Amino acid sequence: EKDRVDPALIDDYSRKHFPLCMRTMHEVLRSTHHLKHHSRVEYGLFLKGIGLLYDDAMTFWKQELTKTADGDKKFEREYSYCVRYNYGKAGKAVNWTPYSCNKIITSNVGPGEHHGCPFRHWDAAILKQKLGEHGIGAEGIIPILDLAKGGHYQIACTKYFECTHNQPPVMTINHPNQYFEESVNLSK
Ligand code: SF4
Repeated sequence: EKDRVDPALIDDYSRKHFPLCMRTMHEVLRSTHHLKHHSRVEYGLFLKGIGLLYDDAMTFWKQELTKTADGDKKFEREYSYCVRYNYGKAGKAVNWTPYSCNKIITSNVGPGEHHGCPFRHWDAAILKQKLGEHGIGAEGIIPILDLAKGGHYQIACTKYFECTHNQPPVMTINHPNQYFEESVNLSK
């Protein structure tokens, strides 16, 4: 059994322990109080994977999404269903597992959507800017951009981990939840 994650810690965790894909969706959610469907499923399942329990997830999503004008109505009609769905309490009632890097990397990301892999789906200029904002120097940015350009997205992500933790993960990154767990383990 996973330890319960306190929803109040998610902001802090997102900066310290989330891979770039999940940190991005968290920041979009916090700044716009909105995420499109694919992002809600993908980010919601990741949060479930780190130990966010069903009731806490309802509170977390409700608090954020109801900050918009029509949020209350939308939450009832649409978003709350997504939380129930992610936790196997609606639809096909499957206990869905969080997506792997492979699944995220090969997904289609349309305009205004944020659920992809930054190393695969972002323009190099935006990726470069974000890496700099996250404190990575040129000695890290250059190889990461090269790896991303060459199609080695998970190795680019592994290098990003190394640059932000001053040591590489135990294994090449192949799952956002693996990234999280390796990062938390280093902080213990
Ligand atoms: Fe997320 Fe995986 Fe891409 Fe890293 S390689 S940003 S964990 S999808």
